[in-house]
Amino acid sequence: MTLLAYAVLSLSNMDKKVRVRFAPSPTGGLHLGGVRTVLYNYLFAKKYNGDFIVRIEDTDQSRFVPGAEEYIFDTLKWCGLIPDESVQHGGDYGPYRQSERKESYRQYAEKLVKEGFAYYAFDTPEELEKMRSAYRTEQNPSPQYDHTLRDKMMNSLTLSENEVERFIGEGMPYVIRIKIPTQETIVFTDMIRGEVQFDSSLVDDKVLLKADGMPTYHLAVVVDDYLMKISHAFRGEEWLPSAPVHILLWKYLFGLENMPQWAHFPLILGPNGKLSKRDGSKYGFPVFSMNWTDPKTNELTEGFKEKGFIPEGFINLLALLGWNDGTEKEIFSLNELVESFSMERVHSSGAHFDYEKAKWFNHEWIKKSGVGTLKSGVKELLEKDGFIVSDDNKLEKVIALVKERCTLLPDFSDQSSFFFKTPAQIDTVSILPKWNTEKQQFFRELIRTYKLTTIWNAHETENALKEIAAAHQIKAGELMLPFRIMLVGGKFGPGVFDIAEIIGREETILRITNGLTFLAA
Ligand code: GLU
Repeated sequence: MTLLAYAVLSLSNMDKKVRVRFAPSPTGGLHLGGVRTVLYNYLFAKKYNGDFIVRIEDTDQSRFVPGAEEYIFDTLKWCGLIPDESVQHGGDYGPYRQSERKESYRQYAEKLVKEGFAYYAFDTPEELEKMRSAYRTEQNPSPQYDHTLRDKMMNSLTLSENEVERFIGEGMPYVIRIKIPTQETIVFTDMIRGEVQFDSSLVDDKVLLKADGMPTYHLAVVVDDYLMKISHAFRGEEWLPSAPVHILLWKYLFGLENMPQWAHFPLILGPNGKLSKRDGSKYGFPVFSMNWTDPKTNELTEGFKEKGFIPEGFINLLALLGWNDGTEKEIFSLNELVESFSMERVHSSGAHFDYEKAKWFNHEWIKKSGVGTLKSGVKELLEKDGFIVSDDNKLEKVIALVKERCTLLPDFSDQSSFFFKTPAQIDTVSILPKWNTEKQQFFRELIRTYKLTTIWNAHETENALKEIAAAHQIKAGELMLPFRIMLVGGKFGPGVFDIAEIIGREETILRITNGLTFLAA
């Protein structure tokens, strides 16, 4: 077997301008793995002052899904991973949508045919099916169009030149297939996996150009990576089996010295193997970046954004799904990631997705985020839940006070609703066992005192309560629970005097008064 040591040639692309691409097919919502591919590409590009390109790979028109392209750009915007070149951002290497580059691919396919690296194939779908059933065995349940069978099919390897010309002249539909060499070991160096080898005999003769003149993914990806001067091609592990085809195409068309350096990112694993959309609905966690509604079925798949993740948390959890900086450090801002990221530290084995851990990242980022960053999201959320949030200053104080307790954005609603709405009912059950006339009298006096207090803040309200408690010979500790429940409605929330300060004198007095009524009922 010939060993083609392609590896050495692809090692030194760092002397080129770094240009990486994210090349999604617009077929639906973006899965965690897809967004992580975006992120790692982005980090690498920014680390080396390179360009991050987004190329829409829509050559398979049968898989086109309306709305999927917009969704991809909305996700990038939400995450703050802004491309340098794309359909939406322009650039010197456009068009950035493959369907608009249709005309540029045929010449490369024809060149391959002329040089003996590809051939025309005229087999009809029926003939292909016939071949599959004729050669199907137990060991080989789905025979491929490859070196073992191509000599038995209708193609320019088996037909005479005249026949081929005639068929084409008569307008007979045909595809162009790559002629994969037999018995070659195809080797390349993956930046994460090191040397990877393939036995060419196991690779089928992939279609490069379809009967409608559209290239397949395999041809288009290689041609476009070349024309767009891509220095590094990074993608998910599921594309590793396609690598030998791409490497051969690079060798035949452009010479291996121009080939980008490859890296294939590890799979993201859910509770049962590869993380799937179904895992999300089964276990109740998001798998897509943002909500996605399948336009055909109307099925809604929930996204991290709508679940209440903030971009900083989402980016951080994604980055750590398959990478670390070699220390115990887990919390990274996007800028810190750009600084610390290295492809060599991306793991080659599958990365386990743990939803509890994902939420932990978000919690840490909510705690770390400034009030200004959180304000608009929280306001939107509270208003959606029917609260009137007209006082910006109050909203800021509330956010600062409760953010420690919020893991996901909707937690802000639960944790702060009582700041904006007088409780319609309170948890009297938790107060009544220790409720008595003395405490009742205490709260009546507290109302009188609060009415007269000159300064209204947490400190003064606390002092007043303690003084009256001492005068009534009741331990202040015993009064805190009823006081909290009167103000909040239940046994939760931040410091009770902070709450009193924010809701204000009148509202505090109103809530104590209401509380006494509820308890007397
Ligand atoms: N169009 C492929 C996808 O949908 C891109 C694979 C690659 O990056 O080569 O993921």
